[in-house]
Amino acid sequence: MSNAVDVTVADHVTLPSLRVVPSPVTFDVDGATSAVRALLSALGQDPDSDHLRDTPRRVALAYEELLTSRPFVPTTFPNDEGYDELVLVRDIPFHSLCEHHLLPFSGVAHVGYLPGARILGLSKLARVVEHFSRRLQVQERLTKQIGDWLEDRLEPKGAGVVLEAEHLCMSLRGVQAVGSRTVTSSLHGLIRDDARSRAEFLDLAGIRS
Ligand SMILES: [Zn+2]
Repeated sequence: MSNAVDVTVADHVTLPSLRVVPSPVTFDVDGATSAVRALLSALGQDPDSDHLRDTPRRVALAYEELLTSRPFVPTTFPNDEGYDELVLVRDIPFHSLCEHHLLPFSGVAHVGYLPGARILGLSKLARVVEHFSRRLQVQERLTKQIGDWLEDRLEPKGAGVVLEAEHLCMSLRGVQAVGSRTVTSSLHGLIRDDARSRAEFLDLAGIRS
């Protein structure tokens, strides 16, 4: 697939934001299958036993799915009506893989912006979250990448991202803090600098400011 398909829009403007955003990872299923076989052996398991014979390939395919985001077109529209209040999508479910332990972390994202000259199709906010979450991540970077993407591609008057997630590497091992949630935020423009916009965003995102 081409990773830069131009899309014709009504006002004949082709912005960089109107190109297909591809998944950034190329996945070697056969290589991953061999590696999982080797891992099983190293863990003292017999990868040739009846129970485990198909496990390496299944694990490889599972990781491929966890690390591949669906390509999407971040459709934007002219903000003809001059809408200048907050647009916020709450509770976008997401999951990602922690790059330190290859264990999942999952939760919800609240993503909002104060429109500038263009508005973004609402479903695209969830696609942006998926785009950056289907890769090896830490929650802090994931939060910042979503915020930076909105800032760069949409040029809004403000943008805000809050992620709340439970990390299996914290709840199943290490401190075993079952049920604890990590909250991270990335605020830009007026949502960062203007007290009223910031409070409104955090309030609507369900975060006490
Ligand atoms: Zn971890």
